[in-house]
Amino acid sequence: MKILQDLTYEELSLLTAAAGEKPFRAKQLFEGLMQGKKISEIPIPVSFRAALLSEYEDEPVRVREVFTSKDGTEKYLFELWDGHLIESVFMHNDYGNTQCVSTQVGCRMGCKFCASTLGGRLRDLTAGEMLAEIAVVNRRAGGGLKDRKVTNVVLMGSGEPFDNYENVVKFLRLLTAEGGLHISARNISLSTCGLVPEMRKFALEGIPLNLTVSLHATSDEERRRTMPIANRYSIAEILDACALYFEKTGRRYIFEYSLIEGENADMVHAFSLAKLLKGRPCHVNLIRLNPVKERKLKGTDEETAKRFCKALTDAGISATIRRSMGADIGGACGQLRAKYIEDRGPADVK
Ligand code: SAH
Repeated sequence: MKILQDLTYEELSLLTAAAGEKPFRAKQLFEGLMQGKKISEIPIPVSFRAALLSEYEDEPVRVREVFTSKDGTEKYLFELWDGHLIESVFMHNDYGNTQCVSTQVGCRMGCKFCASTLGGRLRDLTAGEMLAEIAVVNRRAGGGLKDRKVTNVVLMGSGEPFDNYENVVKFLRLLTAEGGLHISARNISLSTCGLVPEMRKFALEGIPLNLTVSLHATSDEERRRTMPIANRYSIAEILDACALYFEKTGRRYIFEYSLIEGENADMVHAFSLAKLLKGRPCHVNLIRLNPVKERKLKGTDEETAKRFCKALTDAGISATIRRSMGADIGGACGQLRAKYIEDRGPADVK
């Protein structure tokens, strides 16, 4: 079965015309899907609906469970049409609401501190599946296309977005398209572990979002200890690709740096990070490592994080500590899915 949410408005128009239906049906379908509706809920002629349902999934992404944290953060466990599970987080901020979406089922990048990668990558998500994650949450939160409840989107859930490049770019075009959810690229952040060729290619796509790179180390040697991708690309190549992104889009870029005790969180690391990034149009997001049961690494205490942050800002580097939300419900990448599978047994879910 195929996924109707994968289609752009133009593609839906062609499909509608080929089915001999009036042109306004394409708009009706596009808007209905963007509003998070199932095909069977959109008021189109019965015969057209039946024809669509014989080829397309009625509900490719359905809510399996929602966990609500004390701070109001909601963690969604979605079941895909083929039984795979993915997770997504919906956070409430003063300036709006941010949804964090998954881009793959699992991940094959192998970062030592990350739960998403524990079982490897099972499959890529399609553009329409990623879009449906948002459309479904927006609808459940009472939002529509004009009065959106999801105002910001971050591609920071499970998966490496640039390991699923074509689908992710199509998803971003659907998400920012007029007439749909129409979320501005400025309100979207994409986080990559640093796939340099795709970063360079993305700079030319004309999508000026907040490019975020998981750095987590100040030298290639250190980085290789926790991130296997560092064996393929150097920090110097990553910085070059970031500079290209800035040149093409005018957007400053962001580095994520998860503080790991005894690994990358000493003052000497703060100084070398400052030296590395000095003069670049960037911001550093410090994250206190979320302990993952299956991994041995530990985060730092709050004081160390504050000291690290101050050393950066004193050296003229823009830096903040990321607020941790939803920690009580397994906030970090892949934790919820991993726990769910552990609790119910792998036979029950994929
Ligand atoms: N694959 C992309 C998207 C993941 S985004 C990437 O690597 O950037 C999620 C961010 O959280 C990344 O910076 C990731 O390295 C980081 N992360 C993963 N597990 C974590 C953990 N247990 N604690 C803190 N940060 C973590």
